[in-house]
Amino acid sequence: MRSMKMPTVRYQNGDMVMGRWPGSNLYYEVKVLDFDAKSSLYTVIYKDGTELELKEQDMKNASGFQTRSRSRSRSPGRRRSQSRSPARTTRRSSSRMAAAVTTAAITDGVTSSRKDTRLKDSLEIRLSPLPQTKAAENNGNNKHEKKEEKQKDENNTANTVNEKSEAAVEVGPDKTQGRYNLRRRKDDGDAKPVETKPKQLGEKDAKLAAAPAASLATPLDFGGKIGAYFWLLFLPAWVLFLVLQVNLEDPSLTNFPPPLPALEAFWDAQALGFVILWILFQALLYILPVGKLSEGVPLRSGKKLKYRTNGFCAVAVSSLAVAAAVHQGVDLTYIHSHFLQLTAASFLVAVLLSVYLYVRSQYAAGEQLALGGSSGNVAYDFFKGHELNPRIKEFDLKFFCEMRPGLIGWCLINFAMALAEMKQQGLDAPSYSMILVNLFQLLYVVDGLWNEEAILTTMDLMHDGFGFMLAFGDLVWVPFTYTLQAYYLVSHPNHLSLPAVAAIVTLKLVGFYIFRKSNSEKNAFRRNPSDPKLSHLQIIPTATGKSLLVSGWWGVVRHPNYLGDLLMALAWSLPCGFSHLLPWYYMIYFIILLVHRDARDMSECRRKYGSAWDEYCRTVRYRIIPRVY
Ligand code: NDP
Repeated sequence: MRSMKMPTVRYQNGDMVMGRWPGSNLYYEVKVLDFDAKSSLYTVIYKDGTELELKEQDMKNASGFQTRSRSRSRSPGRRRSQSRSPARTTRRSSSRMAAAVTTAAITDGVTSSRKDTRLKDSLEIRLSPLPQTKAAENNGNNKHEKKEEKQKDENNTANTVNEKSEAAVEVGPDKTQGRYNLRRRKDDGDAKPVETKPKQLGEKDAKLAAAPAASLATPLDFGGKIGAYFWLLFLPAWVLFLVLQVNLEDPSLTNFPPPLPALEAFWDAQALGFVILWILFQALLYILPVGKLSEGVPLRSGKKLKYRTNGFCAVAVSSLAVAAAVHQGVDLTYIHSHFLQLTAASFLVAVLLSVYLYVRSQYAAGEQLALGGSSGNVAYDFFKGHELNPRIKEFDLKFFCEMRPGLIGWCLINFAMALAEMKQQGLDAPSYSMILVNLFQLLYVVDGLWNEEAILTTMDLMHDGFGFMLAFGDLVWVPFTYTLQAYYLVSHPNHLSLPAVAAIVTLKLVGFYIFRKSNSEKNAFRRNPSDPKLSHLQIIPTATGKSLLVSGWWGVVRHPNYLGDLLMALAWSLPCGFSHLLPWYYMIYFIILLVHRDARDMSECRRKYGSAWDEYCRTVRYRIIPRVY
């Protein structure tokens, strides 16, 4: 409506014009989205999705605008000086990829042949991060440039750099423009320019600058606000269903729903005591000053958190402790006979933890909040996790819960099921099926803890806040549903021939190889993109300063690690046979989880990397399974 009453407005909504990029003399093709008569600012969108507000004087008609094509062989230094302030080049670039990025299509799909021609002629240009404060943005060119240099030196990777590789056109200095007053729309909202001087920015101001996490928040997933309510109810109900179902003699869908036990059957103070003791024991192992202190990826603030990655030590000590307890006559089959009560106790702990996390997140600074859990809706943020890395001093709650009590508890429960099987079936040793399930899953956990540092570059650690979703997942879902195969085998023996054992082991090893190699490759690359061991890999540079691997494992499919994980999941279900669907639950759930996770990651990466991500997707066409999906 606003744009309807603007008879003197030069550009109309939908017009394709050339817009100046802040702090430079570069003009890029932009589409006019809106005009605000009050502020006399046009809202425009660049081809990589960046929206800015521009003054009319910073916009020119595309027709008659002289496109200047520049050679790619120019030195970065020259490139920088020509483009004045923010242009910069990446350290590593693949010429093939750079060319591809350069010719990336306009995102709204209105590419014309004329545009294509221009795109081909244009040069890949990387622009500097926009200043974080409006005050800094309102500074002149020199200040802007200095700030960028400083930022670049301090942190090469944490910057929010905007790439304008398409149709960049440089013009001479605009005499009419003394100071840049182009405003970055998404970060500013409609706020008036702030008068604060950069030098006076104290801690409070810095918090304010980083505060509008909600305005940067990523689109809602999991069905949004309504979905959050659904998942909050459904997930516990589903775990209850599985736990009751696996206890049945015939756990088939025909016996749905399983009979509900009396309410008091859920509560066992001793079970709660064991759960709390186990968590405290793991917490103690976590804080032991042994093992490496690893750095996480840079946060939005540019800071990197340190994590004590002594998970392997924790699982080794836990195994010794469990062995000693069994040796002392502790009957671990208690875990089998009190599975429901242990599940309920863990659920209680997860809920209390989630409430604590949500409450403390209300006092967290804006820069500490997770973009994915900052919708402003209580249920959604409670579910998704509002604070990114909640810590009590150096104790990182999310990292601890992700890697320790549930994961190591999973192995403990599996081991208890092997003992329960021997007891129930009168065996001297666990069955082949039980051994395979135990060993496969133990390998998975031990490998995860051995390579614990690698979790620091996963979605959970980097992007997801710590709330009910992860707390419940870590403390209830993983230990009490991933163990269902072992639980199932206790009273549903499945004989395996030796060839079948060999085939399943082979499948597991193939899956494990793909999983480990691909995860390690990405982790090594993210930690040190200049690692000589990775120099043979092709990359796509992106506007954020990070690059994307486009050969090696990450050139086969977009999520090779998921492929390996799925093959392993198959190997975990096969030992349980085909009599019931229940032991296949993990496989089915995991397909759904990873397909959804892949979709979440795709949209997150699309948002982060823009046209570079599109190019990656064009080059690596399949998501998880080559030539299939
Ligand atoms: P990934 O480890 O695949 O991490 C995704 C991130 O990797 C992206 O957001 C992006 O982050 C980066 N990335 C994507 N493509 C590339 C590329 N081509 N080059 C370089 N970096 C790239 O995702 P997850 O955290 O989901 O999974 C980690 C592991 O955990 C997987 O093996 C998965 O199977 C497993 N997993 C297991 C679960 C279980 O319950 N058993 C549950 C969930 C996961 P950026 O660019 O910001 O670095």
